Amino acid sequence: MDALAELKQRDREILLLNHSIDILRWDQETYMPERAIEERAEQVALLQGMVHDRIVDPRQEELFGALGMSEKTKMGPSGVDDETRGFLREAFRRYSKQVKTPKELVEELAKTQSLAQAEWVRARKASDFKLFKPYLAKLVELLKAYAECQGYAESVYDPLLDEYEPWMTTGELEKILAALRARLVPLVEKIRGSAVDAGAAILTRSFPADKQRAFGLTLLRAMGFDLSRGRLDVSAHPFTTTLGRDDVRLTTRYNERFFPGAVFGAIHEAGHGLYEQGFGASLRGSLLASGASLGIHESQSRLWENLIGRSRAFWTAFFPKLKPLFPEALGDVDADRFYRAVNAVSPSLIRVEADEVTYNLHIILRFTLEKKIFTGELAMDDVPAAWAVESEKLLGVKPDADRDGVLQDVHWSMGAFGYFPTYTLGNLAAAQFFTALKRKHPDVEEEIGQGRLDTVRDWLKEHVHARGSVYPAQDLLAHVTGERLNAGHFIDYLEKKYGELYGV
Ligand code: ZN
Repeated sequence: MDALAELKQRDREILLLNHSIDILRWDQETYMPERAIEERAEQVALLQGMVHDRIVDPRQEELFGALGMSEKTKMGPSGVDDETRGFLREAFRRYSKQVKTPKELVEELAKTQSLAQAEWVRARKASDFKLFKPYLAKLVELLKAYAECQGYAESVYDPLLDEYEPWMTTGELEKILAALRARLVPLVEKIRGSAVDAGAAILTRSFPADKQRAFGLTLLRAMGFDLSRGRLDVSAHPFTTTLGRDDVRLTTRYNERFFPGAVFGAIHEAGHGLYEQGFGASLRGSLLASGASLGIHESQSRLWENLIGRSRAFWTAFFPKLKPLFPEALGDVDADRFYRAVNAVSPSLIRVEADEVTYNLHIILRFTLEKKIFTGELAMDDVPAAWAVESEKLLGVKPDADRDGVLQDVHWSMGAFGYFPTYTLGNLAAAQFFTALKRKHPDVEEEIGQGRLDTVRDWLKEHVHARGSVYPAQDLLAHVTGERLNAGHFIDYLEKKYGELYGV
């Protein structure tokens, strides 16, 4: 067997182990009885150890050497086809990250994460940051050590961001977010000053869960999500996970007194699911069968959820199918009124409840604080106060309780610093992809208005999904849309849509 074939064989085994871990985790989030958690954690840890051993196996180093891969050639060798280059780049990246991190640090991080998460639950309940603070401080210290092991050219935040958004630097991210902020803050101020009431109260009427599920499945089919290669289940926190080449699991949750949660959640997760189902045949079963980055993955879910799912054209087509399911709640509502209600804008404290206009301000807030925490500009004691100051500046509101501010998200307790920005990168990339799609298919909105979503699905599949992670995220964007990430497309979209909705 030649070196490349052997490396691919090894990658295949790593993927099979990883999917086995994902099956155990999916079960844990959906059907596992509560008391099974202890042994489940052992099962997962054992498999994770096996994955780690395979990745850092000395034979891997020999194989990379034989294939000319080193830190200097980490973007992949030239003179090979794009898929081989992508495969070697991604495989070396995975290897190099693990090999640079001492085992003791990995173990200490894992242990601290589970302790921190448990303490975060308690602290959040008590709404008391002081309880969580020592754990957060410990996590930050360990992650700084991790960043030093990985090495970086400019910012200690670079290796953290790179975990979730490969190859993007903090400097590049800062520029993108600054451009967004400069136009977003004034837009939110204008909308706050508008006298228009979007009428969102209709969404809190009574919506039986079984009908919500039926409608969600109708939308999944219209989007082209293949239910013979996937499922929709229920979990406390909606997510998508891939358990095998032909097994993509989505989850959502139902609230009978708040319509948008389950339906937009299902559209969002199905956007992720279509990506996972759409990898090209030659990539399936290898590490290239994955999103180009978390930001690109999120661009697919948000494109479907917001640019399609919250559009006037979409509800022109689907409101007539929705209304008969909820005769009591929607008897006096028409498609236009419904469209306005699902696009209500209201600056609030809680990120996961935010509308698509204010959402990214929540992310800018978190990124600003994360960066300062890691560069040492912000002391742990001052984090809640800094949160309040930024919140007031960006959103015009500030939390009275830690629960509604610094303790609201699970991410930090999991040590996931550098993760939040990918949500905004996803929103921006979604608008950029949709602009490119409309350039090629100027009539696409008319088609959506007739309930036909195939042009969108097929375009995304051909240009984004089929390519998996063959190209780095920004190269893919440039390839498909003609430029690297540009916040202008997203903000143009917001100004047009919400200018009309709010008369601003
Ligand atoms: Zn998502």
